Amino acid sequence: MRRQRFGTFVGGLDLPDEKHATLNQDIEPIPIPEALHVPADPCLLGGVTVLVRPGQRVADGDRLAVAGGGQMPIYAPTGGVVAGVGRCRLAGRPHGTDLDTYAYECPSVELTDLTPLEDAGRAEAPLPWQDAAPEGILDHLAAGGLTTCTCPPEPLASWCRRHRRAGVDVLIINGLENEPYLTCEHRLMATRGESIVTAAAVVARALGVGRTALAVDARRIDRYRAMALAAERRGIQSLAVEHKYPMGNPTMLTAVVTGRIPPPGRSPMHVGVAVLNVAACAAVHRWVVTGRPPTWRVVTVSGVNVRRGGNRLVPMGLAASDLLAACGAPVEGNFCHGGPMTGTALPDDAVVGPATSALLSLPAADERSATACIRCGWCTDHCPVRLDVASLNDMYELGDLERARRYEVTACLGCGVCSYVCPARWPLTHRVRTLAALVRRDGPAEEYAGD
Ligand code: SF4
Ligand code: SF4
Repeated sequence: MRRQRFGTFVGGLDLPDEKHATLNQDIEPIPIPEALHVPADPCLLGGVTVLVRPGQRVADGDRLAVAGGGQMPIYAPTGGVVAGVGRCRLAGRPHGTDLDTYAYECPSVELTDLTPLEDAGRAEAPLPWQDAAPEGILDHLAAGGLTTCTCPPEPLASWCRRHRRAGVDVLIINGLENEPYLTCEHRLMATRGESIVTAAAVVARALGVGRTALAVDARRIDRYRAMALAAERRGIQSLAVEHKYPMGNPTMLTAVVTGRIPPPGRSPMHVGVAVLNVAACAAVHRWVVTGRPPTWRVVTVSGVNVRRGGNRLVPMGLAASDLLAACGAPVEGNFCHGGPMTGTALPDDAVVGPATSALLSLPAADERSATACIRCGWCTDHCPVRLDVASLNDMYELGDLERARRYEVTACLGCGVCSYVCPARWPLTHRVRTLAALVRRDGPAEEYAGD
C-alpha cells in the first residue's frame, strides 16, 4: 500500500489497543443456536408486514417480512420453522430517543429447528453493476434490505439517495476501526479486501462521486496489501492514516482526508462527503455480487473473562447471551455493545442486529463518585472539536441551554475522550451529549454528527 501521510487533528488520544486477543483470529461461524429472533424492522421504519405464519417452514434467504410499507425486505438468515411473531430488543440508541436508552424494541420473527447455518441457500442473480445506472443500483440495494450498519442503522438505499441529493463528490470507506478491542472490520479487510473494494466501487457508482478513498490504520498496512492492489486496479485511493482516537469518527476522518470541516452538529454530507463503514461494504458485496441477502454480520467478542473470543460470523437475531455463551463468556458482568468508548451497556435480552460490531466483557466500572473539578483543562485539551468541556459541565448543572448553544455544544461527537481523561471522574460525555440533545430539541432540527 502506498503510504500517503495525512494530517492529524488537535486533541484526541493514543488509546491502548487491546486488540491482541482477536486481531489474528479468522472469521468463524458460530454453532447452530436453538432459535433466532430475526428483527423485522431494525431501522424503525414502521409499516411492517409479516409474510410468514407460525408453523411454516422457511428456507435460507426466504422473505420473512417487509418494513417501511414495502420499502425494506427482511430475509431468513437460515432455514427453519416459524415459531411465532413477536418483538425483540436491539442494543443501541435510535435517533430521537433519550440518551439513557440502551435498546429499542422492534417486531421480530422467531425461527426454530434451524438448518445448518450458512448453508448454500437461495441466492438472487448477481447484479451486473458495472453497466447498471445509479438508480438501478439503488433499487437493487433497497431490494436487498441493506443498511448502513451504524448505530442506529439506516436503509443503505435511503442513505445513498440522501447523499446523492446533497451532491457529494467524495466517498470515504472508513477502515479505521480505532476503538479498543474491535477487530471485525480489520479481519474483513485483511481476508476479504477485494470484496470490500468491489463494494466501494458499487457504492461510488451509485453515488456518482468523482473520488473514492479507502482509509486504514497506518500501523496495519502490511495486512491490507491485497486490498490495496485491488483498490489501485479500480482507481480507488488507499490512505494510511495515523493512529489516533477518534480518527475513525466520520467528522474527524473527513477533516483529515479532505480538509473539509463539517459545521458544528452537521454530518460530512454537508461538506460533500459520504463516509461508509467496512461492515456495510461487506453486506453490499454479499448482496450485489453473490446474490445473498445481508442476514449475517461479523461480530468481535472479546474482553476480560471471555475464554474463546474471536471474530464470529453471526446471523441476525441471535440472542447476545447465546453468542457470549458460545464464546465462553460468563452470564453476568459488565457487557458493552460496540466499542468501550462509544458503545452502550448491553441489555440482558438483546439480539444481534445490523449495528452489532462487538460484544465486550469489560472490567467492572469505577464506582467511586466524582470529586471536585480541579480545572486541569485536560478535557478541553483532548477534545477533538475543542469544546470548553469544563464550562459545559457547569452549564449542564445550571441547565443553561442558551449559553451551551453559544458554546457550540452540538459539535460534540460523543467520542468519550473527555470522560476518559478526567481525573475527577466526571461523566462528561454523557453530560455534554445530554446538553447537546436538549439544545437540539430546543432549536431547529439538526442532524446527528456521529455515525
Ligand atoms: S478534566 Fe475533569 S477535572 Fe479537569 S477541567 Fe475537565 S472536568 Fe475539570
Ligand atoms: S465527547 Fe464531546 S465534549 Fe467530550 S471529548 Fe468528545 S467531542 Fe469533546
